[in-house]
Amino acid sequence: VVQAQSIHKRFGRLEVLKGIDFEVAPREVACLIGPSGSGKSTLLRCINHLEKINAGRLYVDGHLVGYREHGGKLYELREREIAQQRKDIGMVFQRFNLFPHMTALENVMEAPVQVRRANKATARDHARELLDRVGLADKERSYPAQLSGGQQQRVAIARALAMEPKLMLFDEPTSALDPELVGDVLGVMRQLAKDGMTMIVVTHEMQFAREVADKVVFMDEGVVVEEGPPDRVISEPRHERTRGFLARVL
Ligand code: ATP
Ligand code: MG
Repeated sequence: VVQAQSIHKRFGRLEVLKGIDFEVAPREVACLIGPSGSGKSTLLRCINHLEKINAGRLYVDGHLVGYREHGGKLYELREREIAQQRKDIGMVFQRFNLFPHMTALENVMEAPVQVRRANKATARDHARELLDRVGLADKERSYPAQLSGGQQQRVAIARALAMEPKLMLFDEPTSALDPELVGDVLGVMRQLAKDGMTMIVVTHEMQFAREVADKVVFMDEGVVVEEGPPDRVISEPRHERTRGFLARVL
């Protein structure tokens, strides 16, 4: 679903991604780990069109992200075409950023109705199913402020799923949560993985990575240092930098 070939990203003179090669196959779950500032969020943001890459090639679902290739040249896509590409990608952030003035149900219905012009009754039925799937069927009338952090995060997941994405990106979805709320959110993500969703998850939850990930990718200073099956990378890291990082988080 995702293919990154030697992608580079700079902010001014600071090079944050220094030639990232990375692939995620359909139905695969990739966990992205690495120290603060290594470029994990930036990589997700590039995949989701929130940042433009400076060099390399990035494909989602076979389509070049943000550009069209014609006669060996790249042309930037228009807003409308970019919106089209982004529809297939769901993203969940560390902070739940739900719409505060809308109920849980309205939050989940919003994008299908506004962006996809879905019929309201259909969107509502689908939103109810999704809230049920994340264990919040009884909270549809609650406003974000009336929900716990874990519940808000599960609404955020339901909201991302409402657009029926082909790919879900999670950027430290549990790191702003009280410890006792983490499990419910990870449980929803685990089920989503079981149901065959393609996912890229930035996380420090090594237990989750071990159990759910098909592969773990360790990034440091803008490069992929190593990647492989979770047991291999977490239990027998090959690189000193991976060992050092794991010693700090485990
Ligand atoms: P963390 O684990 O702390 O979330 P990260 O791996 O997600 O870290 P990024 O957020 O991708 O790291 O940031 C990588 C580097 O890029 C950092 O040095 C950061 O300061 C820099 N950076 C990120 N976004 C911007 C921006 N919009 N403008 C300038 N520099 C940025
Ligand atoms: Mg980050």
